Amino acid sequence: MAKKQFKAESKRLLDLMVNSIYTHKEIFLRELISNASDAEDKLAYKALTDDQVPVDRSELKITIVPDKEMRTLTVSDNGVGMSKEDLESNLGTIAKSGSFQFKQDLAKEDKPEDIDVIGQFGVGFYSAFMVADHVTVISKAYGSDQAYMWQSDGADGYTVTECEKDTVGTDVIMHIKANVEDENYDQYLETYKLQELIKKYSDYIRYPIVMEVEDYRQKEKPADAGDDYKPEWETVKEWKTINSMVPLWQRPKAQVKPEEYNSFYKEKFMDWQDPLAVIHTSAEGAVTYKALLYIPEKAPYDFYTREYQKGLQLYSSGVLIMDKCADLLPDYFRFVKGVVDSADFSLNISREVLQHTRQLSVIAKALEKKIKAELLKMQKEEPEKYEKFWAAFGNQIKYGVVAEYGAHKEMLQDLLLFWSSKEGKNTTLAAYKDRMPEDQPYYYYACGESVDKIAKLPQVERILDKGYEILYCTEDVDDFVMQALGEIDGKKFKSATAEDALPQTEEEKKASEEKAEAGKPVLEAVKEALGDKVKEVRISKILKTGACCLSADGPVSLEMERYMRKLEGGEHM
Ligand code: ADP
Ligand code: MG
Repeated sequence: MAKKQFKAESKRLLDLMVNSIYTHKEIFLRELISNASDAEDKLAYKALTDDQVPVDRSELKITIVPDKEMRTLTVSDNGVGMSKEDLESNLGTIAKSGSFQFKQDLAKEDKPEDIDVIGQFGVGFYSAFMVADHVTVISKAYGSDQAYMWQSDGADGYTVTECEKDTVGTDVIMHIKANVEDENYDQYLETYKLQELIKKYSDYIRYPIVMEVEDYRQKEKPADAGDDYKPEWETVKEWKTINSMVPLWQRPKAQVKPEEYNSFYKEKFMDWQDPLAVIHTSAEGAVTYKALLYIPEKAPYDFYTREYQKGLQLYSSGVLIMDKCADLLPDYFRFVKGVVDSADFSLNISREVLQHTRQLSVIAKALEKKIKAELLKMQKEEPEKYEKFWAAFGNQIKYGVVAEYGAHKEMLQDLLLFWSSKEGKNTTLAAYKDRMPEDQPYYYYACGESVDKIAKLPQVERILDKGYEILYCTEDVDDFVMQALGEIDGKKFKSATAEDALPQTEEEKKASEEKAEAGKPVLEAVKEALGDKVKEVRISKILKTGACCLSADGPVSLEMERYMRKLEGGEHM
């Protein structure tokens, strides 16, 4: 039996398309500019592979013209253009992508040229109908003498007629919808808004995107101006290239100056301070990408609030796909800012979300290693800088150690700093270990409000007397960090305030048992006086000159208990 063709209700399909796949109407401009860029690429490719094609690559550009009176916005290119057949099949068929076909053909011919065409799904063009009630496409294909005009209101099909056009290329003319209550379409006729959108989504398109912009500036001083000359101002219209074209991260490292890295950071991530460190890296192979990452010097004001969103900017072939791709950064490195660019992502049809996360997780894993290596390098080579980093983001690293039952402690423990009783400044755990006497049984730490207060704790005295070093912990989270660390290379972490902080010899044990026996009446009297406030009164094994101290039994330390009580009381961490 002959197969019947599926019929699609094209009006409904278009409605569905236009109104449900994109979350932001403004991306229509990104889509049209991407198409224009693809068209330029295709023409440039023709010129590259055929000497007969007289194309000057430097002439290729994309032009944006808003016209408030006519309510039109025009996106023009001088790329390959479309023939009558192209218009019918590429713009008349939803989900038909001439660009995808182009890529396939190249692949079939096994052409090595890497031309990085953006289009692939054959739906982007229709996003114009999100903001326009009528779209006219005037196009003249390369090598043809006749131009054609494609027109549609979106709803009931399209028409293609012959028309006049001097030059090869395509004009897409959108008649912008009238404003409705909660939708401002007028903004798409405003130069400043269009500039903003070009910067946001299409900054790294490799062809100039030009627009006429107004500049308010001082008139030149006339040669015959007298002493009483007052400067005059004028508004001038000027054609300007809006996009920066070559992304910093695509340039070879050796050719980028530190100032360029820094000003890019400040502009893009809206910081007024230079970053502490820059990581410019790339990979080729299973997943090919380039990344430019920054470690800021200070935490943004909202960093420790729920409002702060982690993530890296994600580009695919120079087009912004996602502003904050959270999957690229683990929580403990959520302070890192930056961009990742890869043509390898499988994008979904709206190009707003990624289809598969495999490539993402490969990249995320690699970047995580890079970030850690950069921090360790800073710790070693620029300790003062590292102290700055630690002051801003140390707590984030500590939360990372505690999170998910310590699953990331191996990743993070080398980054930790604690105050050293011996050094009188911050130390890493590795340096602590290097200084450790052979007989020292544990990593010691003691928690408290301040270094001074901890140093005065009666329990620390005996440990310090032994020549052992104690890590003084003043952050609420520290006790949890120590619990999460548990041990490193078989050596355990031990609170200086624990009863068994110093292991006793047989003799010492016997002596203290005797003492306990002898002291019984005193202990009983104290217990009676304190009543339910304490569970037990006993002779301490850890005091030296101090008369008494508080201690806790069980897995929850005294400091942790205090912290929990603080939480219950509604105090903030
Ligand atoms: P995609 O870009 O994903 O292929 P679109 O719906 O954006 O899908 O465009 C469909 C097709 O129309 C493109 O693949 C291309 O062949 C053609 N096209 C769109 N705009 C232009 C243009 N400005 N110049 C030449 N061809 C174009
Ligand atoms: Mg497209």
